[in-house]
Amino acid sequence: MDAHIYKRVLLKLSGEQLAGKFEGGIDSDLVSWLGKEVKKVVDAGTQVVIMVGGGNYARGAQLAGHGIGRVTADNIGMLATMMNALAVADIFNNEDVSARALTNITADQVADKFTHRRAISDLGKGHVVIVAGGIGRPYLTTDTAAVSLALELECEVVLKATKVDGVYDKDPEQFPDAAKLHTISFQEAVSNDAIKVMDKAAMGLAMEHNLPIIVFDALQDGSIANAAAGNAGTTIS
Ligand code: UDP
Repeated sequence: MDAHIYKRVLLKLSGEQLAGKFEGGIDSDLVSWLGKEVKKVVDAGTQVVIMVGGGNYARGAQLAGHGIGRVTADNIGMLATMMNALAVADIFNNEDVSARALTNITADQVADKFTHRRAISDLGKGHVVIVAGGIGRPYLTTDTAAVSLALELECEVVLKATKVDGVYDKDPEQFPDAAKLHTISFQEAVSNDAIKVMDKAAMGLAMEHNLPIIVFDALQDGSIANAAAGNAGTTIS
């Protein structure tokens, strides 16, 4: 496999992952551990941007209805990502993993506004940049926002942390002989309904701009560093 060390990567962490052993909220022990794992990547010379999801608190599509409009629901979803970004940044800093939370929704007293210039400057100073609020507009998920942000910040790859360590030729939970695929094409990932690693908008945007996505399990020792060196999971390109 490709043993190239990326200069800058975007790590997408969903709310479900941040909740760890809990049903909702944040598993701070797990996030501390993730901080140490991310530090290995930074120490290897790779700049790290993190897009956090918010599904551990709220997801727009699930909240909409019963009197809550879709735009309001998505705004609530974006606020949920803000809670995660603030908590993750604090927990990382507490672990001596220098991190800055920047937000795409305006909340001046809560977090600094995301700007391209500020993000690049923070990354150059060795900080992990954690982005809240997706891209700040409704009708999107943080997966799509992650791809958009990776393009904006010229990240070479999106590291999409999932519960499984990659994409399999069939469901590994049902079929013990399922084989992990090291690479698949965007075309396959989009057209095969059994492969549900990211929503189609995210895949489409990545495909259009040839931005590779690595699907991997972040909860194994060293796996974030391995993914950031192109040595883990399945690469969709
Ligand atoms: N969201 C949004 N615009 C964005 C990113 C997110 O409106 O650019 C909202 C959307 O409602 C989404 C919620 O924020 O459901 C939380 O993000 P997501 O569901 O992607 O979180 P994850 O599943 O990764 O935890």
